[in-house]
Amino acid sequence: MKKVILTGDRPTGNLHLGHYVGSLKNRVALQEKGDYDEMYVFIADTQALTDNFKNPKKVRDNIIEVAIDYLSVGLDPSKVTIFIQSMISPLCELTMYYMNLVTLARLERNPTVKQEIRQKEFGNSIPVGFLNYPISQTADITAFETTIVPVGDDQLPMIEQAREIVRSFNNIYGETLVEPNALIPDNKVCRRLPGIDGKAKMSKSIGNCIYLKDDSETVKKKVMSMYTDPNHLRVEDPGDTKNNPVFIYLEALSTNEHFRKYLPEYKNLEELKSHYEKGGLGDVKVKRFLYDVIEDILTPIREKRKYYEENIDLVYNILEEGSKKAKEKASETLNKVKKAMLIDYFDEKTF
Ligand code: ATP
Ligand code: MG
Repeated sequence: MKKVILTGDRPTGNLHLGHYVGSLKNRVALQEKGDYDEMYVFIADTQALTDNFKNPKKVRDNIIEVAIDYLSVGLDPSKVTIFIQSMISPLCELTMYYMNLVTLARLERNPTVKQEIRQKEFGNSIPVGFLNYPISQTADITAFETTIVPVGDDQLPMIEQAREIVRSFNNIYGETLVEPNALIPDNKVCRRLPGIDGKAKMSKSIGNCIYLKDDSETVKKKVMSMYTDPNHLRVEDPGDTKNNPVFIYLEALSTNEHFRKYLPEYKNLEELKSHYEKGGLGDVKVKRFLYDVIEDILTPIREKRKYYEENIDLVYNILEEGSKKAKEKASETLNKVKKAMLIDYFDEKTF
């Protein structure tokens, strides 16, 4: 079977460190390894509109921002097809057909959807389009015959939903669609990076993020004001590292090389942690180190960003070319689906 990788992001804001550790880093590593047949990365504007339909400008502006974020972290359009979801009309048709295979109760049971409904304060006025987004996501995944989806763990219920739809479709209409698998980071803390406010997830919609685009001063301010262990009041106090976002970020981002470079009095994170847990290590010192680590990662990304910001036409070309290519592939799958569902009337003129 072909190895096809696909992932997407919603154009609801710039990409942040959560995306970087949860998905982007994995994507670039997969791209560099080259062990795949096709790789797609897309900007999920149709999905972003399900909860931002009153704010089209936000979605519009962030298309180009997310595209620049992609190119800045090292996604390479000669190896990866980068496209915009709404440009691929077959995705809407697939969604329509898959909707028959899912119950309302099943959608309402999806834990990520449930949490997002609470967070977005929809109450009893949940837009149908929003509740439907796991189905539309199945269309995205299956249209490209995707086998691997590198995501953070908030997306696991979506992949499960996609697998169920694929099984149900193949059962009814015959073996047509390919079942996808999620690929989550090996490092547990990267699967759902918390926000700088200590909330469970760094998320564009909440705004508790360090963005890949943030300048050095902004990163410094954010890191220095980060939530830590509220009981670690004085330097001598023993501190908690487990529920402390500063240490969670270090767990996700720092390497022994960073220690050699910026904090040579400790060999590695284990040593730093045990000092903090024992007492005698202040938050400011740890935060300064975290700032250095983040800067080390963001500096080359910012440099690339500058190049693309000065060459916006190039970015639009990449998106246009990618969208053309993606549409061809999605149309092929749609044709297979319609054939399986016996809606290929003019190909098979039965009577
Ligand atoms: P929104 O708030 O609009 O939903 P988001 O910050 O959740 O935005 P998405 O575009 O929904 O970002 O997510 C894109 C990808 O990034 C998904 O694979 C998701 O799992 C991953 N991701 C997002 N936030 C995090 C995080 N904090 N930690 C790890 N992975 C994350
Ligand atoms: Mg999200």
